[in-house]
Amino acid sequence: MKHCTIILIVLSVSLATAGPSRAQNGKVTGKIIETGLNDNRVMEHLDVLSNTIGGRPVGSHALEDAEMWAADLMRSWGLEVTVEEVGELKTGFNRGPWFGRMLDDSDGMSLHFTTPSYTAGTKGPQTGRVYMEPRSRKDLDRMKGVLPGAWVLVGGRSTGWPVDQTRDTDTTFYKTMAEMGVLGFIQSARTPITTLYDRKHLEELSFTNLPKVPDIKLDEHQYETIKEKVLEKRIFFLEFDIRNHFSPKPVKYHNIIGALKGTKHPDEYVIISGHLDAFDVATGSVDDGNGSSVTLEAARLLTSCGARPERTILFCLWTGEEFGLWGSKYYVEHHMEQMSKISNLFNRDGGPLAATSVTVPEAMYDDFVQVCKPLTSEPDLFFPFTVNKRTDPPSPRPKNGGHSDYAYFAEQGVPTISFRETDPAGRYFDYREIWHTERDLFYQCPAEYLRQSALVTAVTAFGIANLPHLLSREGAYAD
Ligand SMILES: [Zn+2]
Repeated sequence: MKHCTIILIVLSVSLATAGPSRAQNGKVTGKIIETGLNDNRVMEHLDVLSNTIGGRPVGSHALEDAEMWAADLMRSWGLEVTVEEVGELKTGFNRGPWFGRMLDDSDGMSLHFTTPSYTAGTKGPQTGRVYMEPRSRKDLDRMKGVLPGAWVLVGGRSTGWPVDQTRDTDTTFYKTMAEMGVLGFIQSARTPITTLYDRKHLEELSFTNLPKVPDIKLDEHQYETIKEKVLEKRIFFLEFDIRNHFSPKPVKYHNIIGALKGTKHPDEYVIISGHLDAFDVATGSVDDGNGSSVTLEAARLLTSCGARPERTILFCLWTGEEFGLWGSKYYVEHHMEQMSKISNLFNRDGGPLAATSVTVPEAMYDDFVQVCKPLTSEPDLFFPFTVNKRTDPPSPRPKNGGHSDYAYFAEQGVPTISFRETDPAGRYFDYREIWHTERDLFYQCPAEYLRQSALVTAVTAFGIANLPHLLSREGAYAD
């Protein structure tokens, strides 16, 4: 009797520490799939990020709002949330609306343009004549009476960066013209218009040292029309009203990390991630509202279905990706002790496409086949899912960063297998169309693609977190 009691105690203690059984985890996986198919809320998260909050560059109120919202949401699902301070900008930037039109004897063509983040707006609607930029000191001298109060068409085609207003060269006089009081610079841009940020100013920016003159990237067709009129010396005016606002308050920026603690190996990890920051000339829906929303919905699916993984699953929303992978770099540097204990980082920062397969090195293949079985054998998924063995040789680890937040993890040898994302319904998505352009909008993201991706990510991460071992790193990288 006494003996039995002891055995029972030992048994119940070991059950409590061991967490749910395989059968129980199987049930949870079934529930995740059912919820992912019938009550998937990924588009609700994306709607808030894109349309309610809007474009989210580092240093904006919008990014602060998004951080707060995401942290609260994760807490409401029972995750342990860390708001990790990565850095601080001395000055904030917030974009309001922008308008422009041509005032001439026609009906006043409205102008299609953008301005890079952290560049100047106008002082309300500002109207002026238009001139081609002077190309020599002599030209500049000949124009000194007309340039103040005028818009200046500058040469070259925009790549999205502002023109350098801090210096003159032998043929460009942006600094002098800005000091002379031109209304702004106008450069030709291919559509959809790519719009980046004022990198130079971002590093040195303070409230007493703000950019002064708007830097307009104008639709190349309108630019050509205007240029022709200027060369013909026609009399007409352009009016711009650009509400780019700066804040004197320093703005901190953070990684938002939600942890679903492991029951058996709390110090071993599977990571799901996207980046919360975005450019603000559009609404950062694809890049990377898409990855952030899938990360959030994977978290909601797992927690709402009662998942208790053996390893810790981290849901990471990185900051400052667009300005140089600031958030993920900070995380790697400050959590070095985790790097050997991460099974895989699933980072999503590409097109808003459907996760329809995964290709893995031979050493991981059997594990992925087992973990993804509920997906590969599910007839009602949005799109079929497959697991493939990699046949081409592995690539070397990146050095000093890369194209997205996986890079610093990969540099440390952390596997960063991501799902292959495809366009099975033929939605004709083109990444070049949205990459840091005015078109990175909510409508670009097909609901069924994001739903499939959130569901696939949740099931796969849960399965990997419950394997009897960390994923093998053999063949993950060439070096
Ligand atoms: Zn991105």
